[in-house]
Amino acid sequence: TPPQCTWKAGAKQETPHRCIPVYQPDRKSTSILPTAVEAVGDTPMIRLDKIAKSEGLECELLAKCEYFNPGGSVKDRIGVRMIEEAEKDGLLKPGDTIIEPTSGNTGIGLALTAAVKGYRCIVVMPEKMSNEKVYVLKALGAEIVRTPTTAAYNSAESHIGVAWRLKKEIPNSHILDQYRHRGNPLAHYDCTAEEIIRQCNGQLDMVIIGAGTGGTVTGIGRKMKEKMPNVEVIGVDPIGSILAEPEELNDTTASTYQVEGIGYDFIPTVLDRSVVDKWCKTGDEESFKYARQLIREEGLLCGGSSGTAVAAAVKVAKKLKKGQRCVVILPDSIRNYMTKFVSDDWMVDHGFMESAVAEEDKWWWN
Ligand code: PMP
Repeated sequence: TPPQCTWKAGAKQETPHRCIPVYQPDRKSTSILPTAVEAVGDTPMIRLDKIAKSEGLECELLAKCEYFNPGGSVKDRIGVRMIEEAEKDGLLKPGDTIIEPTSGNTGIGLALTAAVKGYRCIVVMPEKMSNEKVYVLKALGAEIVRTPTTAAYNSAESHIGVAWRLKKEIPNSHILDQYRHRGNPLAHYDCTAEEIIRQCNGQLDMVIIGAGTGGTVTGIGRKMKEKMPNVEVIGVDPIGSILAEPEELNDTTASTYQVEGIGYDFIPTVLDRSVVDKWCKTGDEESFKYARQLIREEGLLCGGSSGTAVAAAVKVAKKLKKGQRCVVILPDSIRNYMTKFVSDDWMVDHGFMESAVAEEDKWWWN
């Protein structure tokens, strides 16, 4: 069984993980890295002046750009972390197989680390997730199994159900299990949160984080509660998901949504909602609008859930004053969505954009 999420606030770790930035400051810019695995983390923080201004925010709006990770997302951090913890614990041995149920980015993070270290990797992913993710996974040598998007998490056909069946069938295979693995929130507690505090020189008032497994919001949120208790931690959950609190925020009659990587129909073990001060619900249309705006106006080549975080920021950070700071996490990159929200035709087909706008753009491109 994988290491369970028994990690609690204040608990000491025996050996600090090597990605802890405090031990290797500026390692990317000042040294030759042995492999792509060492290039994970230490991502840039970029000011979003245009969006802050056009939305009438008084505070400074800052983006933690996780799409600069070598595999293209925030989940590279947990890919490395979970594999290296499993190696350290003696669970994972040369020639073993890693299986993981994922919305894709954790699969890419694991497949990248597995490619470098020489493990076989099988990724089990709902149909909803983009083909772009499939191509990246295949290029990294991973095997892919697709499952029905509508399957309930606890059914045999879901990505989780299928992954656990495969584990039974394949010898020397392991599910590191991002939904329960302590390394998921710890990667963000040890690294992402420390980077944010350092990049902001400790001057920070709000952080806004979309939740999937909840590893990112839990790890960063817990570090803030311990080191910077005045920082307000905002969790973002898409309409149609049930992660937000209070319960009344979650409309369970809403159908599936298009934004990938956030929201669930169960509460993952790693998600500690006690570190979240406020939840914000968001819809697909605003998410894609702001993702396209981040790309078009700020030059940030991000994915759909990055737009989700900004959609929450323009609502929640309104109360912040001049001189205050709000950080949003941009989890992944445009690459995963070239034929989805990045495409005008897809936006029109899904009712997120008027066709006239798309026609105008076509004229310009032609
Ligand atoms: N955005 C995207 C695109 C993701 O793939 C994920 C991971 N599922 C998240 C946000 C949320 O991250 P977490 O699992 O740490 O909550």
